[in-house]
Amino acid sequence: MIKENLQEVNQVLINSCEKAGRAVSDVVLIAVSKTKPIEMLTEAYECGCRHFGENKVQELTEKYEVMPKDIKWHMIGHLQRNKVKYIVDKVYLIHSVDSVKLAEEISKEAQKKNVTVSVLIEVNVAGEESKFGIKPEEAEDVIRQIAPLPGVAIKGLMTIAPYVDNPEDNRQYFAQLKQLSVDISKKNIDNVNMSVLSMGMTGDYAVAIEEGATFIRVGTGIFGERQYVI
Ligand SMILES: *Cc1c(COP(=O)(O)O)cnc(C)c1O
Repeated sequence: MIKENLQEVNQVLINSCEKAGRAVSDVVLIAVSKTKPIEMLTEAYECGCRHFGENKVQELTEKYEVMPKDIKWHMIGHLQRNKVKYIVDKVYLIHSVDSVKLAEEISKEAQKKNVTVSVLIEVNVAGEESKFGIKPEEAEDVIRQIAPLPGVAIKGLMTIAPYVDNPEDNRQYFAQLKQLSVDISKKNIDNVNMSVLSMGMTGDYAVAIEEGATFIRVGTGIFGERQYVI
């Protein structure tokens, strides 16, 4: 099942790149494996997946311990400052930096471990109250404050679009995130790179690719529905 799902996602990825005139190599699929057992991650790994996304620190570190070491782990969920120390030397990219304080903590812990952590700034483009992320109009100021921190390297922006029935409804938000990254890029802020755009999930990744996504985060479309135990 995972194999077929991955084939389908990869085909949509290829089609979307073609439609948008983009190189397939510009878009990387992150297999969002939160709540899923190791057997399923292993199956995805055997199909070639090397980028995995998790949204909880403990789950990420547990999976990190047992899965192959060539995996690139993405922290995509809200991150509490007191848990930063457990992941700074394990993650490839933290997508969910939504405050200067969080970035300061990441920088501090990264320096202790002698690493530099790549991060994205999470922007709440749609302005949903239920979502984390900074406001688009705050982005430049927040980025200017985070940029000088020695332990972090800003690589771009991330957004979580609203849950919608019609993915076209999210096109505007993806386009806005892209525009914001272009605007910030033009400011030539030291230690800031805007090459990464993390946007698009199972329901809307095709549209996100057309609007410039470089990482898409797909869970359900690869592993099936998640069951949450309450
Ligand atoms: C769970 C999650 C995803 C994947 O969602 P699907 O709809 O299952 O593809 C992507 N991004 C973030 C931040 C998530 O928490």
